[in-house]
Amino acid sequence: MDEYCDNEHCEFPAVTSVPVWDGSQESCRWLCATCLEAYTIGVQYGKYVARKDPAGRAPGNPVSQ
Ligand SMILES: [Zn+2]
Repeated sequence: MDEYCDNEHCEFPAVTSVPVWDGSQESCRWLCATCLEAYTIGVQYGKYVARKDPAGRAPGNPVSQ
């Protein structure tokens, strides 16, 4: 893969792509190892939304039937 980190001011080769939710759609962002670490921490602090609710519940939907 010839992808490079998508972070601004970062020119390291990307090691992986991660899903990011920009508020209206999910897209992929390529990250190097350093930025991946920051991304992981960011997910833990809620800075990024890594994925939609894995249970697939939409807001307002009842949890049980
Ligand atoms: Zn980077």
